[in-house]
Formats: sequence, C-alpha cells, structure tokens
Amino acid sequence: MNRRDLALHVDAVLEARFPHAPLALRFESPLQLLVAVILSAQCTDERVNAVTGKLFARFPSAEAFAEAPLEELEALVRPTGFYRNKARMIKECCRQLVARFGGDVPSSMEDLTSLPGVGRKTANMVRGNAFGLPGIAVDTHVQRVTTRLGLSAQSDPEGIERDLMELLPPDRWTLFSNRVILFGREVCTSRAPACALCPFLEHCPSATRCERGGARHEARGHPPGSHPALGLSTRKEGR
Ligand code: SF4
Repeated sequence: MNRRDLALHVDAVLEARFPHAPLALRFESPLQLLVAVILSAQCTDERVNAVTGKLFARFPSAEAFAEAPLEELEALVRPTGFYRNKARMIKECCRQLVARFGGDVPSSMEDLTSLPGVGRKTANMVRGNAFGLPGIAVDTHVQRVTTRLGLSAQSDPEGIERDLMELLPPDRWTLFSNRVILFGREVCTSRAPACALCPFLEHCPSATRCERGGARHEARGHPPGSHPALGLSTRKEGR
C-alpha cells in the first residue's frame, strides 16, 4: 500500500471508529477555544475543562482577558501548570486581539500565527474546530502516530503537516487530526502502543515482529482480528 492509499485507509478506519470526533476541549466561541488550546500545553484536556468554566464566566471577552488582573488570571489557570507563562500569554494575546482585530479572533493562518503563543498547531485547531476551515493540527499524538505509520518521514510538525496535506483532501483534514488524537490516546500511545490490537498492524512499519505474529494478541485472550474492549478490528475493514 503506498502512502496515499494508507492515509486514505487510516482516515476511513478512524472515521468508522470515531464517527463524531469533536475536540475534548469545551468551548463556545473561537476565543474560548483559543484560550483553551493555549492552556492545554503540557496539560490534559480534562484539567483544562475543569478550569475553563469558571475562567470563561469571569472573563467573557477578549477585552476582559486583556484587562484581567494578572494575579487573578494566574490563580484561575494554575491547575493547568506553567500558569505564569500561560496567564501572561493569554493576556498579551487578548491585548493584541483588542488592539488589532476589534476583540475578535481572526480566522486566517497569517493573522492567527501573528498572535503571541499561537503557532500552526493552535491556529489549525481554531480554524478547523471553531471556523470550519480545513486544517491539520499536528500535536504530539498526530506527530507520533503518523510518523509511526510512515505517513511522514519528517521530524518537525510543520513538515508532517505538509506531508499529510498532500496525502488527504482538505475536507478531511480537521477531523482526521481530531481522530488521530483520539486514536493516539486509546491505542497508539506514547509508551505502550497496543500494536497487537491495532487495525493498522499489517501496514505499520513500526509494529514489532512479535506483535505482527499475534503472539501478544492471543496471549491476552482475544482471537486474532478483534478486540471487544476497544471495538477495533485488526482485519482489513470491509476489504
Ligand atoms: S501498529 Fe503499533 S505503532 Fe503502528 S499505528 Fe498501530 S499501535 Fe501505532
């Protein structure tokens, strides 16, 4: 299977596995998503969601964040870690939103990445999930899973993003990256990828020999080709 076919296959299998693949971060506006993504650096989405309810109620607009007392902002985001940097970044980002964009979050990649603390990953998440514009957000999960699968040989997120954009049509980009994030959390985890249970086992250059042979799979008591707990099939789906 060549890389393009593999990318389309991965996309189709993950769509079947995760038909609806919204981000786990809770938000109701582009601004809330932008702030939530900034807070999600080195932090779980659950922990971010635990603080944003109160945070967004206290600071409902870019103007409110821009004028927020820094100490209060720090205290509210503290559970997400690196709270001093994150509070400063959110405040400065919102100051610029007010000064340059009338308090609104812009939708263009160029404008978004001109804001403090906003790189291509954050911009793509906001564009894709808040504005409905196509974007592949290469976070740590997308980076790990797609390079393990051999969909990209690049080591930097921008290079991986470029490779994936060439392999998939634009209308697949946003949900593809959302789904790969879910798959990376459930199956192709950083420390212990469940290769023996993976639907891409036979196509993946990173799967170990033992796992290809199905030894670990059978040892866990699941017949080759299925895993009820994960709802995944290791057979070629419908092919
Ligand atoms: S076979 Fe293993 S390394 Fe490859 S995608 Fe599946 S879980 Fe990840």
